[in-house]
Amino acid sequence: MTDEIIERDFYARPEEEQAQFLEYTWCGECMEVDLGMHEPKEYELNGVVIIEGLCNKCNSPIITELSDDDEDF
Ligand SMILES: [Zn+2]
Repeated sequence: MTDEIIERDFYARPEEEQAQFLEYTWCGECMEVDLGMHEPKEYELNGVVIIEGLCNKCNSPIITELSDDDEDF
């Protein structure tokens, strides 16, 4: 087990995809869906791709894990 973080470029994704990630969110603090998020970052941890942003309402981190099936290069 390594905790190596590999930086990825969120903005390399198609604009459509970016918009979806920023719009369709689940905030565990607000307990609400689709509040949206800002300041997205993308990285890979232990083989899992993670997109992290801040909730538009409460500024809590929102972390989305992508399964390999979503990989689409
Ligand atoms: Zn929130």
